[in-house]
Amino acid sequence: MAIFDEVVSRVKDVAETAGKKTGELVEIGKVRIRIAELRREIAGAHEGLGRLLYDSRKSGEDVTDMIDACVEHIAALYEDLEELEMRVMESKNAVRCNGCGALNENTAQFCNQCGTKLD
Ligand SMILES: [Zn+2]
Repeated sequence: MAIFDEVVSRVKDVAETAGKKTGELVEIGKVRIRIAELRREIAGAHEGLGRLLYDSRKSGEDVTDMIDACVEHIAALYEDLEELEMRVMESKNAVRCNGCGALNENTAQFCNQCGTKLD
C-alpha cells in the first residue's frame, strides 16, 4: 500500500501548492512559467494515476478511493491551468469570437474554436 499512499499524497501536495501559487501570480512571465510547471505536474499526476491503476490490478487491491482522489486533484490542476491560460490570453489583448465567445490571440484571423473570421 505504501506506493499508493505516496502517489496520492504527492498528487495532493501538487494540487495544494498550485492553489496557493495561483492566487499570488501577477506578472505574465511568472504565469507562463507556472503554466509550464502545471503541464508537467499534470503529466506526472497522470503517470502516478496509471501506476496506481497498474499496481492495483496486479495486486488485486481495491484502490477506488485513491483513484477518485487522484482524479479530483488532476481536475483541480486542469482548472488552475485553464485560469492561467485565460490570464495570458487577456494580457495579450485577445479578441473574443463573435460566433462562440472563445478568446483568440489578436493576431489570429480565424477563431481557434469555431473557425469564424475575426474582426
Ligand atoms: Zn469562435
